[in-house]
Amino acid sequence: MKRPGKITIIGGGIAGLCTAVYARQSGYEVDLLEQHQSAGGLATSWRRGEYTFETCLHWLVGSNPGGTLHAEWREVCDIDRLRFVDHEEFVRVEDEHGASLHIYADVDCLEAELVKVAPEDEIEIRHFTNAIRQLVDLPMPHPDQLWLARIAGMLKMLPDLCWLGSFWQGRPRVYAAGPLVIMTQS
Ligand SMILES: Cc1cc2nc3c(=O)[nH]c(=O)nc-3n(C[C@H](O)[C@H](O)[C@H](O)COP(=O)(O)OP(=O)(O)OC[C@H]3O[C@@H](n4cnc5c(N)ncnc54)[C@H](O)[C@@H]3O)c2cc1C
Repeated sequence: MKRPGKITIIGGGIAGLCTAVYARQSGYEVDLLEQHQSAGGLATSWRRGEYTFETCLHWLVGSNPGGTLHAEWREVCDIDRLRFVDHEEFVRVEDEHGASLHIYADVDCLEAELVKVAPEDEIEIRHFTNAIRQLVDLPMPHPDQLWLARIAGMLKMLPDLCWLGSFWQGRPRVYAAGPLVIMTQS
């Protein structure tokens, strides 16, 4: 249904573009102003020769076609045209002496790698990797859900949340910021 009035959006990043899509779907006329030559904001890449320079998005929440957020992406873009690459190695940290730590996407490989690098921490490492296995299917509540569906979703999550609570009890807290990991006893 066409509505009176026009919406002017300043900035053609993901937020501005999504706002424009929803405004158009709701029947508004839209002016989208972007200061750069192309839209996309932080989520842009460019090619030089045979290389793609990807300065921002390295992973996308909602890439899994079965996941809740994938449906959200479908509303605003043709996400099925994108090719997602699931790397075996998520990140690698190397020190100045050439020693390296591989963070694998596969939890069994990750566990083996961490135990190899720090065998003295084997018990904690196995607690950590078991937590990943336990929580891998934790359902993500949909932001648009009605309250009844939200409560049902929370009830489904309850066993995992209780498990998570007991998991953290008496454990050191780990704060990760990029490759830097800080551990504090609390
Ligand atoms: C290094 C890096 C890595 C990241 N990695 C990931 C990742 O792996 N996965 C993930 O999901 N997210 C990642 N993010 C976050 C994600 O990229 C951003 O949250 C998202 O792109 C922000 O979108 P936005 O539309 O809010 O803002 P922006 O992308 O900043 O868009 C704002 C737009 O507004 C325009 N603009 C500003 N002022 C004006 C003006 N006065 N007139 C006209 N135009 C204007 C700008 O040119 C820009 O295009 C990463 C961010 C960075 C910086």
